[in-house]
Amino acid sequence: MPKIKAEKKTRVHETIAKQGILFNKDFGQHILKNPMVIKSMVEKAAVRSTDTVLEIGPGTGNMTVALLESAKKVIACEIDTRLVAELQKRVQGTPLKPKLEILVGDVLKADLPFFNLCVANIPYQISSPLVFKLLLHRPFYRCAILMFQKEFAQRLVAKKNDKMYSRLSVNTQLLARVDMILNVGKNNFRPPPKVDSAVVRLEPRNPPPPISYIEWDGLTRIAFTRKNKTLGSAFRQTSVLTTLEKNYRTHCSLHNKDIPEDFNIKNKIEEILESSNADKWRAASMDKDDFMSLLLAFNKNDIYFA
Ligand code: SAH
Repeated sequence: MPKIKAEKKTRVHETIAKQGILFNKDFGQHILKNPMVIKSMVEKAAVRSTDTVLEIGPGTGNMTVALLESAKKVIACEIDTRLVAELQKRVQGTPLKPKLEILVGDVLKADLPFFNLCVANIPYQISSPLVFKLLLHRPFYRCAILMFQKEFAQRLVAKKNDKMYSRLSVNTQLLARVDMILNVGKNNFRPPPKVDSAVVRLEPRNPPPPISYIEWDGLTRIAFTRKNKTLGSAFRQTSVLTTLEKNYRTHCSLHNKDIPEDFNIKNKIEEILESSNADKWRAASMDKDDFMSLLLAFNKNDIYFA
């Protein structure tokens, strides 16, 4: 995979230094200063002149300007009003200004407007909720090209049996095709973060998988509590059994189904796992299709996770 090295000095870097903005750690403010990285992210996004692009955390606008040059419109969501002012100043009096719309506030709380592409060097502390907000967003968009902390990016793309494979991997891969695009060293940012970064491409699966995401999330939560343990043992925990029994009783009463007098949740779960040959499976070596067929088997037998 190509790795882009930092440039020694850039003009943008000096401009920001002169303006004396104090970057705020709580907002994960690390400005991408290497124009080569910005260029390759914009290229990977294959921005068209008809595209409306969503950018999260534009900061001082290095990426925003590059996006504005190729897109029809850029919607940039920024939480820090000082940087909003900075960004406005940057496009003031240029032909790019009418193409830029700024949403001021927390992207996680925002009701996102229409966009058909997302490109961003995001604040890393909101990576996980942001990925799911974007993957569950409708209408569908073409893809998202996002910069993450490297370890997070590796977990997003990890396949079953990889060391980094986790609930995050399978949940993401259920909803999207995921590809690692570029490794980016810490010195491409100002101030440099403590961690390395990587760019990932997410393409939401359209049509979406025919399952309820809340159900799916409930199942993968249980299975990944100890990813190297068998499902048989993961489903033997009392707290899990209690919840599943409660859900089962609610489901039966809502659907006018009789509950057998000798009903035993532990036995029922064991039967389902054994009849789908899944009792010896381990989350670490199950892909999204394995989880899908397991969820189907549970739901068919009136076991629900949410
Ligand atoms: N994209 C810019 C800046 C990245 S730093 C660049 O590459 O240079 C992350 C940016 O996200 C900062 O501008 C920060 O203020 C902003 N930010 C942090 N939390 C946010 C949130 N919850 N919603 C929107 N923006 C946020």
